[in-house]
Amino acid sequence: MTALELVSLLTQTIYLLIFVLVGWGVVRRRTRTSVDIALFFGAISIAIVESRLATTLGLQQVEIVTDIATLLIIAMPYLLLRLVDDFSSVPPIVSRIAEAGLFLSAVAFIATEGTVPPPILLAVVLYFAALSTYCAVAFVQAARRAAGVTRRRLQAVALGTVLLGLAILVAGLAPLLPAAMAGLPNGLTQALALASAIAYFVGFTPPQILRRAWQEPELRAFLRRAASLPRMPDTPSIVRALQDGAGSTLGARAAIGLFDRETNTLRFHDPHGGLPTEVGQSEYLAWRVFETQHAEYYPDAGRAHPALASSYLAHGVRSLLIAPISAAEQRLGALEAYTDHEPVFSEDDLDLVRLLADQAAVILESRALIDEAARVRAHEEAARLKEDFISAAAHDLKTPLTTLVAQAQFLERRAETQPLAPADLPGLRRIVKEARRLSALVLELLDASRLEQGKLVGEREPVDLVELARDVARRDSYQGRRISVTADAPVIGTYDPRRIGQVVENLVENAVKYSPDGSEVRVDVVQRNGEAFIDVTDEGIGIPAGDLPQVFERFHRASNVDDRRFSGMGLGLFLCKGIVEQHGGRIWVESREGTGSTFHVVLPLEGAR
Ligand code: ADP
Repeated sequence: MTALELVSLLTQTIYLLIFVLVGWGVVRRRTRTSVDIALFFGAISIAIVESRLATTLGLQQVEIVTDIATLLIIAMPYLLLRLVDDFSSVPPIVSRIAEAGLFLSAVAFIATEGTVPPPILLAVVLYFAALSTYCAVAFVQAARRAAGVTRRRLQAVALGTVLLGLAILVAGLAPLLPAAMAGLPNGLTQALALASAIAYFVGFTPPQILRRAWQEPELRAFLRRAASLPRMPDTPSIVRALQDGAGSTLGARAAIGLFDRETNTLRFHDPHGGLPTEVGQSEYLAWRVFETQHAEYYPDAGRAHPALASSYLAHGVRSLLIAPISAAEQRLGALEAYTDHEPVFSEDDLDLVRLLADQAAVILESRALIDEAARVRAHEEAARLKEDFISAAAHDLKTPLTTLVAQAQFLERRAETQPLAPADLPGLRRIVKEARRLSALVLELLDASRLEQGKLVGEREPVDLVELARDVARRDSYQGRRISVTADAPVIGTYDPRRIGQVVENLVENAVKYSPDGSEVRVDVVQRNGEAFIDVTDEGIGIPAGDLPQVFERFHRASNVDDRRFSGMGLGLFLCKGIVEQHGGRIWVESREGTGSTFHVVLPLEGAR
């Protein structure tokens, strides 16, 4: 056997092997694509077997045998075009031209009984070359659109097509060459044919090991991204990222439906709008997969669920891969990947979809655990805050209450022992003062809980802040201190007057409380750039820099404040901040320890909510 014969035998064996494998594929699952692939390799195989039989039995000269072999070879580019049409639409005009070319070539061969005149032969060869080039380009383009295994396979198919086209071109041109060069094309044809056989083998029936190797980079990329997903801000963002990841890994569009226990449906977040947003009870194929917990490949979704065929068609859902997303016993949802064409290789991708769905389950589970942990933490935090609150409140209420009880007992004893003695006015005043303090503390506590419930700010109405500040300044609760209010013109906005009054009063009270007698406390009210500014300034003890960020927090008192000297429980500023923010404003403080403080309040004048 010569080297050329060996190459030829090898090429033919590979083509036959591909035919057997794709034929077995048709037996397992008949789809238009798998049938088209089988037809293509069937034609090649019949031609091969025929020529082998003819050679062994010495039938070369039998006309009918040669004719059938020739016709099958002529049909090949057309069959290839059908394949192209399976996963990227071939314009009808191209199909018609191909059919006409096929018909004319066949007629030419039959009419001339195999001895085609050179000009016609040249035309037929050119028709072959043009069709093969078209197919190769279409495969390359389809490969570019695809990803993962599908992309590699389409690339191999494109290469096989180019090589086969060249082989046919060289073989077809051979009879047109001078006799001296006759040996050359034969060797080249054989080499090209062998190379195309190998490329087709890799493209149409790649061994498992190759598929795994092809899947790996895409999978790796997906897993790398996946690691950070559970920490994303919320579940919808995770679902979107998973969809994008699965989509680019598969080279298809992907959508994830999460199971909603309340409505007993799968809720989809499909960015492409190809799938319905809610799927329940035997509607759509995703629900079937979710119920049976078996991943499925539907080459033609419309055929698998005829009732919804038009809906699938309208939304560009042709070929569907669906895998359940489940973690242990927990059914979380389903992952769907779909394309508007039947991809040739979806059986392989089913494994990948399963793997991606499992990953999605792990990620969604981790997210659920993180949420659960956060819920537990929030619960613990709430419990701790409640305890803090109760102990702080109890502590702060105890001081005035103790004084109150002691003073009242003292007066009671005095009344018993000296019934005729004049009323102890200073003692009674102390009782009233402590009772007022107690009542103020209780009101603060009630306000804090109202703030938590978002019920602190009530009806709003037009309010002149200058007038309001003057009112507050006139109150006689500042240990006889005079409060100056500076303003040029009325500043009118829509606020809850009681609560804004409370803010100003609180800031003035603090300014008075934390500054020495006789020092100045000033309130400035001004309107600037559509906003109202209220500044309360004192020349008091100031706030240490380390405490500044926390003074607006609940129960926080600065480190330079002595509980015995300055009463209070650290709720006033917390309430001020809540009230101001609920009016759409902001509050902050500038302060230097030992020098004084200015509290700034800014409120919107218009459109405040
Ligand atoms: P309270 O005055 O009841 O402690 P606030 O919430 O009104 O609670 O104030 C929180 C803390 O901020 C005070 O304990 C004090 O340390 C500091 N603070 C507030 N206003 C002033 C001020 N004008 N000067 C100095 N420190 C202040």
